[in-house]
Amino acid sequence: MVLLNQLEDQLCDDPAPRMRDYTLFTSQEPCPMCLARICFNQVGKVYYVYRDGSSPEAGAHTNWDRLPPGFRGLGSRLVIEEAQCAHELKEISRQVWINSIGPSIQRFLDRY
Ligand SMILES: [Zn+2]
Repeated sequence: MVLLNQLEDQLCDDPAPRMRDYTLFTSQEPCPMCLARICFNQVGKVYYVYRDGSSPEAGAHTNWDRLPPGFRGLGSRLVIEEAQCAHELKEISRQVWINSIGPSIQRFLDRY
Protein backbone atom coordinates (compact mmCIF):
# COMPACT_ATOMS: atom_id res chain seq x y z
CA MET A 1 0.00 0.00 0.00
CA VAL A 2 2.78 2.45 0.95
CA LEU A 3 4.70 1.69 -2.22
CA LEU A 4 1.61 2.17 -4.39
CA ASN A 5 0.88 5.47 -2.60
CA GLN A 6 4.40 6.68 -3.38
CA LEU A 7 4.20 5.61 -7.00
CA GLU A 8 0.83 7.29 -7.48
CA ASP A 9 2.15 10.47 -5.85
CA GLN A 10 5.05 10.52 -8.32
CA LEU A 11 2.76 9.95 -11.29
CA CYS A 12 -0.19 12.11 -10.25
CA ASP A 13 0.51 14.79 -12.89
CA ASP A 14 1.02 12.27 -15.66
CA PRO A 15 -2.18 12.13 -17.78
CA ALA A 16 -1.32 8.62 -19.03
CA PRO A 17 0.83 6.91 -16.37
CA ARG A 18 0.80 3.53 -18.18
CA MET A 19 0.45 1.61 -14.92
CA ARG A 20 0.42 -1.71 -16.71
CA ASP A 21 4.07 -1.19 -17.65
CA TYR A 22 5.01 -1.53 -13.97
CA THR A 23 5.87 -4.72 -12.11
CA LEU A 24 5.57 -5.13 -8.35
CA PHE A 25 7.66 -7.79 -6.62
CA THR A 26 6.66 -8.65 -3.08
CA SER A 27 7.80 -11.22 -0.56
CA GLN A 28 4.28 -12.13 0.57
CA GLU A 29 1.10 -12.87 -1.35
CA PRO A 30 -0.94 -9.66 -1.29
CA CYS A 31 -3.85 -9.83 1.14
CA PRO A 32 -7.37 -9.25 -0.25
CA MET A 33 -7.26 -5.58 0.76
CA CYS A 34 -3.96 -5.03 -1.08
CA LEU A 35 -5.26 -6.97 -4.07
CA ALA A 36 -8.28 -4.68 -4.26
CA ARG A 37 -5.91 -1.72 -4.20
CA ILE A 38 -3.79 -3.32 -6.95
CA CYS A 39 -6.94 -3.75 -9.06
CA PHE A 40 -7.75 -0.05 -8.74
CA ASN A 41 -4.11 0.96 -9.27
CA GLN A 42 -3.77 -1.28 -12.37
CA VAL A 43 -0.09 -2.08 -11.82
CA GLY A 44 0.48 -4.53 -14.66
CA LYS A 45 2.29 -7.42 -13.05
CA VAL A 46 2.58 -8.57 -9.44
CA TYR A 47 4.83 -11.45 -8.44
CA TYR A 48 4.96 -12.70 -4.87
CA VAL A 49 7.53 -15.09 -3.42
CA TYR A 50 5.53 -16.75 -0.67
CA ARG A 51 1.87 -17.67 -0.52
CA ASP A 52 0.49 -18.00 2.96
CA GLY A 53 -1.49 -21.19 2.68
CA SER A 54 -1.36 -21.76 6.41
CA SER A 55 -4.41 -19.72 7.31
CA PRO A 56 -7.52 -21.85 7.85
CA GLU A 57 -9.48 -20.15 5.09
CA ALA A 58 -6.66 -20.26 2.52
CA GLY A 59 -6.58 -23.91 1.57
CA ALA A 60 -5.93 -24.39 -2.11
CA HIS A 61 -7.34 -20.96 -2.97
CA THR A 62 -5.15 -17.92 -3.45
CA ASN A 63 -6.27 -14.55 -2.14
CA TRP A 64 -7.03 -13.68 -5.76
CA ASP A 65 -9.40 -16.66 -5.98
CA ARG A 66 -11.24 -15.34 -2.95
CA LEU A 67 -11.76 -11.79 -4.24
CA PRO A 68 -15.34 -10.78 -5.12
CA PRO A 69 -16.06 -11.06 -8.87
CA GLY A 70 -16.16 -7.29 -9.32
CA PHE A 71 -12.54 -6.93 -8.19
CA ARG A 72 -11.45 -9.89 -10.30
CA GLY A 73 -13.08 -8.14 -13.25
CA LEU A 74 -11.15 -4.95 -12.53
CA GLY A 75 -7.93 -6.95 -12.36
CA SER A 76 -8.69 -9.23 -15.29
CA ARG A 77 -5.92 -7.75 -17.45
CA LEU A 78 -3.30 -7.91 -14.70
CA VAL A 79 -0.77 -10.64 -13.98
CA ILE A 80 -0.85 -11.57 -10.28
CA GLU A 81 0.94 -14.80 -9.55
CA GLU A 82 3.48 -16.62 -7.45
CA ALA A 83 7.05 -15.98 -8.57
CA GLN A 84 9.06 -18.87 -9.91
CA CYS A 85 12.07 -18.82 -7.61
CA ALA A 86 14.26 -21.06 -5.49
CA HIS A 87 12.76 -22.95 -2.57
CA GLU A 88 15.38 -21.32 -0.32
CA LEU A 89 14.11 -17.86 -1.25
CA LYS A 90 10.54 -18.95 -0.55
CA GLU A 91 11.61 -20.25 2.85
CA ILE A 92 13.40 -16.98 3.67
CA SER A 93 10.27 -15.07 2.69
CA ARG A 94 8.14 -17.38 4.84
CA GLN A 95 10.44 -16.82 7.82
CA VAL A 96 10.30 -13.04 7.33
CA TRP A 97 6.50 -13.30 7.37
CA ILE A 98 6.39 -15.51 10.46
CA ASN A 99 8.84 -13.29 12.35
CA SER A 100 7.22 -9.99 11.40
CA ILE A 101 3.46 -10.56 11.53
CA GLY A 102 3.20 -10.68 15.35
CA PRO A 103 5.17 -7.46 15.97
CA SER A 104 3.37 -5.77 13.06
CA ILE A 105 -0.04 -6.58 14.50
CA GLN A 106 1.05 -5.38 17.93
CA ARG A 107 2.44 -2.12 16.49
CA PHE A 108 -0.88 -1.55 14.71
CA LEU A 109 -2.93 -2.27 17.84
CA ASP A 110 -0.68 0.00 19.94
CA ARG A 111 -1.19 2.80 17.44
CA TYR A 112 -4.97 2.80 17.69
ZN1 LIG B 1 -2.37 -6.27 2.48
